[in-house]
Amino acid sequence: MGCCKDGCRGGVDFVETPVEELYGSNSFSNAVMRERLPKNIYKEIVAVQNGEKELTLEAAEVVAVAMRDWAIEKGASHYTHWFHPLTGLTAEKHDAFISPVGDGKVLMEFSGKELIKGEPDASSFPSGGLRATFEARGYTAWDVTSPAFLKQDKTGTTLCIPTAFISYYGHALDKKVPLLKSIDALSKQAVRVLRALGNETSKRVVTTVGPEQEYFLVNRAFYEQRPDLILTGRTVFGALPAKGQEMEDHYFGAIKEKVADFMRELNYELWKVGIPAKTQHNEVAPNQFEIAPIFANSSAAVDANQLVMEALHTVARRHGMEALLHEKPFAGVNGSGKHNNWSMATDDGINLFDPGENPESNARFLLFATAVVEAVDRYALLLRASTATSANEFRLGANEAPPAIISVFFGGPLTEIFDNIAEGKARGKTESGAQIKIGVTSLPALPKDVSDRNRTSPFAFTGNKFEFRMVGSSQSIASPNTFLNIAVAQVLSEYADKLEKASGIQEAIESIIKESYSKHRKVVFNGNNYAGEWVREAERRGLPNVKSAPDALAVLIRSETVSLFEAHKVLSKEELESRYHIYLEKYSKQINIEAGVTIDLARRYIFPAATSYAGSLASDASALASIGANNAAQAKRAKRIADLSAELYDETAKLETTLAEAQGIEDPFAQAKAYNEKVKPAMDAVRVRADALEKLVAKKAWPFPGYEELLFKL
Ligand code: ADP
Ligand code: MG
Repeated sequence: MGCCKDGCRGGVDFVETPVEELYGSNSFSNAVMRERLPKNIYKEIVAVQNGEKELTLEAAEVVAVAMRDWAIEKGASHYTHWFHPLTGLTAEKHDAFISPVGDGKVLMEFSGKELIKGEPDASSFPSGGLRATFEARGYTAWDVTSPAFLKQDKTGTTLCIPTAFISYYGHALDKKVPLLKSIDALSKQAVRVLRALGNETSKRVVTTVGPEQEYFLVNRAFYEQRPDLILTGRTVFGALPAKGQEMEDHYFGAIKEKVADFMRELNYELWKVGIPAKTQHNEVAPNQFEIAPIFANSSAAVDANQLVMEALHTVARRHGMEALLHEKPFAGVNGSGKHNNWSMATDDGINLFDPGENPESNARFLLFATAVVEAVDRYALLLRASTATSANEFRLGANEAPPAIISVFFGGPLTEIFDNIAEGKARGKTESGAQIKIGVTSLPALPKDVSDRNRTSPFAFTGNKFEFRMVGSSQSIASPNTFLNIAVAQVLSEYADKLEKASGIQEAIESIIKESYSKHRKVVFNGNNYAGEWVREAERRGLPNVKSAPDALAVLIRSETVSLFEAHKVLSKEELESRYHIYLEKYSKQINIEAGVTIDLARRYIFPAATSYAGSLASDASALASIGANNAAQAKRAKRIADLSAELYDETAKLETTLAEAQGIEDPFAQAKAYNEKVKPAMDAVRVRADALEKLVAKKAWPFPGYEELLFKL
């Protein structure tokens, strides 16, 4: 393969290489394992992937050798256990394959032990008190459900092994362990329900996830002149230009060549590691885009999404741009989210949310869909908590964003069927007008596109999957999926209890759907979730509307939550408490940084620029007066700018005091609340003055590029 052209990265000329050849070339996928492992070992790995057995050291030894040889053939010198600490990012510690053989030479070695388990130590990662420093060691263990891959850049190639990260005492220190446990919990309960429905063949149920990732691109030269973007990922200042997103001319518009070039390389980078990047388009806001891969099992999808986020950054930089993954990089224009498309499928290929064409599948579909409605209603707070970060707070419940209220969109035809079942009415109608009997008659063909047209629902049924849309663009999707899985697992376990005891299965299914849907239909809403009327209507329905992230996180330590997580063996009380503290701390730290940046920019950039501009206007005014010219405009503008600068000065001082007060609070919850209720408004007060000044000060006198450059030039 040539390695010499513009499009050449990491030894693969991706412009020349046919996609089929390039795809997965850096992924130690099942296809590669099938080819390189003895039959019995490959079979064993598949059984481990399916949760049927545990990995033995003997099998690991064989895989390690095959993995090492594969990686070295492709130029790797190092390997790393790649994991998801609670920072929400991914972490890696690289080890070289080398092992000295005594005569000044080395062998390239990698053992089964090293494959299964690493000891990255990593004592600086947040553990929320789960690790005392003397036993700070953490362990990583290979997650066989997500393929190993090669990371390549100009400096070399590294074998990355997706892993779980646990403490010396077995506590989960990452986002992967609970995810894997939640998948198991859900599988167990779903299989019980399937058995009760007469399914004897499916052995396992997996969750499938396809995240749609939104992001902004900005020109790197402008980015580098914005300390707020560099340090916080968002603009803490910035006046809206005359044009915003009101024309909606960007959405699905023709993709600019510079962006198309970037997207092409991004796709190739993702395809190389076996991530099926599929869809890309312009989003609503200017310079906002989206990329969506084809869905995968949730463990692999979580890893893939982390890699997508990483690739967005690296590839954008190669193209003279910066990718912004922050949920709200710009005030006044749309923020970025991540639509988490989620479904449940059996190991033999049945999508449990596929309405299907026959009566048997309709009973299954109606029952599983009801379980989701019930889960979303009962565990709305938990789902809300899974999206509670300081950055996402600017979207959820803020002025122009989706509200923080969780509701389910079903669309007219399905809602009607469920409503009828709940009311014991005609139970819905078939196309010929006959009554539907669950599990006896077929559902009427649902319109192909049942998805909500305005796409404002935070939890929408879209044909054969549910789309959880509250998730923030920069978030790891591990927690949202973990929480969703466990909520549905709990409801299914209750259904299974009933079904297993029932004498007549048909009647039992009917009564479960009827009872559950009647009780939880209040969470179903098919209208415009962005309308003010919905907020009032939701309140009448008694649906929670938790606007602040700290309040949302509080559910993590409630006794119901602890019982739920302990019942399904996903997280212990201790682990939940540690997470609660880590997330609160992260929330406070983030706002602390933003407030610090606000003070710094107001003092050292904006105030000096504004006052010196006012001064130059004032001297212009005197000069004009000296020749008897009309100087009213200069004098007036100079005064206005000077007055606003004085306000900016005062508000900055106030912010500094408020910030110091928040910093002094010991209790993590009280501190997070102070950042939310006191520091954020104080930052806004500074911003209002600064943004007003930006509109009055000459463009060339302003200290950094504005929204015009950031949003409309690339
Ligand atoms: P849109 O929501 O924009 O109409 P698509 O219908 O293409 O887009 O779906 C968006 C995402 O949903 C894609 O990542 C797709 O792979 C994923 N998806 C489709 N079917 C499933 C499924 N059964 N489980 C999980 N994700 C799915
Ligand atoms: Mg979608």
